[in-house]
Amino acid sequence: MLSRIISALVLVYAARAERFEGVEPHMGTLVRITIYAKDASPLRAAFDRIAALDEKLSDYKPDSELNRLCRTHGEMVKVSEDLFRVLEASLKLSALTDGAFDVTIGPVTHLWRASKLPDAETRARVGWRNVVLDRQHRTVMLKMAGMQLDLGAIAKGYAGDEALRTLRGLGVRRALIAVSGDVVAGDSPPGAKGWRIGLEPAGGEILLHNAAVSTSGDEEQSRQIGGKKYSHIIDPATGLGLTAEIAVTVVAKTGLEADPIATAVSVMGETKGRAVFEKRVQKLLILK
Ligand code: AMP
Ligand code: MG
Repeated sequence: MLSRIISALVLVYAARAERFEGVEPHMGTLVRITIYAKDASPLRAAFDRIAALDEKLSDYKPDSELNRLCRTHGEMVKVSEDLFRVLEASLKLSALTDGAFDVTIGPVTHLWRASKLPDAETRARVGWRNVVLDRQHRTVMLKMAGMQLDLGAIAKGYAGDEALRTLRGLGVRRALIAVSGDVVAGDSPPGAKGWRIGLEPAGGEILLHNAAVSTSGDEEQSRQIGGKKYSHIIDPATGLGLTAEIAVTVVAKTGLEADPIATAVSVMGETKGRAVFEKRVQKLLILK
């Protein structure tokens, strides 16, 4: 009897859930959120969570929490749980990729944005081993002056995860968050096996639920410097943007994994990338 009442309630609820979608500019790109819910109001909370994360994690906003941290060195600085978590995940990945993934690459990416190649002084301010974390006190120390963190390869995936978590807190489980090429999915739409996600440039589509997919590659953004095309993804071993063509798509449990791994594999190339990540992710597509 009870189970019959419950399934009747579920049916009523499902019938009332409608599809709502919103698009807003955040994190220097467009964010699209799709939900099945009673009304559109949960979208506001999810976008607000992403905006709040941008205030903390952006290296474009002079007074973001990240940039305030970058103006310190040699002292343990208390940071938010969000910033700490992203830095913790970043450093783990730096160790795993032997430095191919490195969020201290900021001095180089900021020159790249101005279409300049880095000099030795700039490159000397890069190095993930110069970031010290203390989980117990939730503090961060930058060992050197002039360091610049750039979370551009990981913050969007984390923002997708957190938007989904916000929606779930409001009882919305069927949701899809796309922060540009970083997509995080909750439960499937009613009656579907997953959210249909078109894969660019690999082609085809996948059905995604309770997982994340990210695509990275040289083509996304580039600068012509001295007649050569350099991608926005930098190989920390050389300080130069990638010049070889590559596009990497990663499906993983969370955006905090899929986003940086897609960037890391773009730097590492197919052989090393597969060796390190094939067994750690749900899907790894590499197009050259
Ligand atoms: P994505 O679009 O996720 O592949 O991230 C690319 C962005 O990450 C770039 O625009 C830079 O801001 C930053 N970035 C570039 N090279 C690296 C690297 N080797 N490790 C970490 N972040 C990087
Ligand atoms: Mg990435």
